Amino acid sequence: MKNYMRSKKTGIRIIPFGGLGEIGKNMMAIEVDKEIFIIDCGVAFPGQLVTDVDFYIPDFSYVIENSERIKAILVTHGHEDHIGALPYLLKSISVPIYGSPLTNGLIRVKLKEHGLTAETELNDVEPSVPIKMGSVEIEFFRVCHSIPDAMGISIKTRLGKLIHTGDFKIDHTPVDGKATNFQAMSKLAGEGVLLLCSDSTYSENDGYTPSELIIEEAFGKVIGEAKGRVIVATFASLISRMQQVIDTAAKFERKVTIAGKSMVNNVKMARKMGYIKIPDDMLVPLDEAKKIKDNRIVILATGAQGEPSSALTRIANSNHKHLKIKSGDTIVVSASPIPGNEKAISKTIDNLFRQGADVFYSKNSQVHVHGHASREELKLMISLFKPKHFIPIHGEYRHLVAHARLARKTGVDKDKVFVIEDGDVLFLTEESAGVAGNIETDLVSVKGNKISSHQFDNNS
Ligand SMILES: [Zn+2]
Ligand SMILES: [Zn+2]
Repeated sequence: MKNYMRSKKTGIRIIPFGGLGEIGKNMMAIEVDKEIFIIDCGVAFPGQLVTDVDFYIPDFSYVIENSERIKAILVTHGHEDHIGALPYLLKSISVPIYGSPLTNGLIRVKLKEHGLTAETELNDVEPSVPIKMGSVEIEFFRVCHSIPDAMGISIKTRLGKLIHTGDFKIDHTPVDGKATNFQAMSKLAGEGVLLLCSDSTYSENDGYTPSELIIEEAFGKVIGEAKGRVIVATFASLISRMQQVIDTAAKFERKVTIAGKSMVNNVKMARKMGYIKIPDDMLVPLDEAKKIKDNRIVILATGAQGEPSSALTRIANSNHKHLKIKSGDTIVVSASPIPGNEKAISKTIDNLFRQGADVFYSKNSQVHVHGHASREELKLMISLFKPKHFIPIHGEYRHLVAHARLARKTGVDKDKVFVIEDGDVLFLTEESAGVAGNIETDLVSVKGNKISSHQFDNNS
């Protein structure tokens, strides 16, 4: 650790612990003078070559050492790469969590699995309702993404306003009908923005990201024309996508069953909270699905990333307890591969074709659209907030560089755009901003109940 730690200077420190220079395990500490606010706490999945790791989590050493200064964990949305590591942090420290109702619902499912429900304080937040917290005022604002209830976060400090977009795209026709709230964002922008941290995942993509709406058409075609069973694989946390599958199944008078524990749990929770709507008699347990005629059922399954233990992978490898592929089956892989997973997914798709199924995936059909802004939307976000300083977040290094260049082109002063990576400390005051040191972070992996720490090799 460099000497900035010893300096008594007051100001704002931005410290990313994951997600900057890599995809996944997003986590950022924002220190306002002595108070610390954490944004997100997610996992990253290994590529298919790594078999001894279930997932990676951020290195919590620094936040645990400074836990008495942490005021809150603010969560942008309920995807694994933003909430997956929370139970591992909450085993060591007790801090109140703030998130939207669906985000908290998904967190609650995890806390239950880890036996942490009783000791964790979860606070539901509404968009555009300011919350006083220590010396700052926090306000969440609604953004569109591939999950309902996704939020960006505004932190109003004595030095100015900090904006964190979370993951976002600009969608005028999202599945839940809650479009991007430009009014709320421009209201926040009106008072001036000291720093904008914005999602860089698709900063290499020109133009605009298509709306979720286009999937409906593809699903209608695939499910409508299928003669036999339809299996749709997606992420267990893609709540909106599951609703689209359910709506299409209803349209073609098919019942729905679910394969995969995490998906069963999430659907149960999301139904209870009203985020997934499906009539009782339309949802059937997996072991009863056999009794239903092939052309009357849609199976929602985990495994869109080729994860070894997921339902689709086990189906493809002919070792699923209830499901075996037969000719006439239609499979839809509704997800785009997370970098590193391409081979595992391709292998799964090969195996499914080999067994006589017809497979639709992002390369041969419009069955997936991702949830991140392309370059025109990123420019819009920068123009809307007109920040004094800019940090590209959520992306591998080249994504951060592409986004930084875009910010400079969009009018942010070139010396006030900072490409920083995990562990870097950006120090902000009224007069100045700059990288003021680095906190060493290890690579921390989880396999079953075992957590291991390794020295991080940046070139691997
Ligand atoms: Zn996300
Ligand atoms: Zn993400």
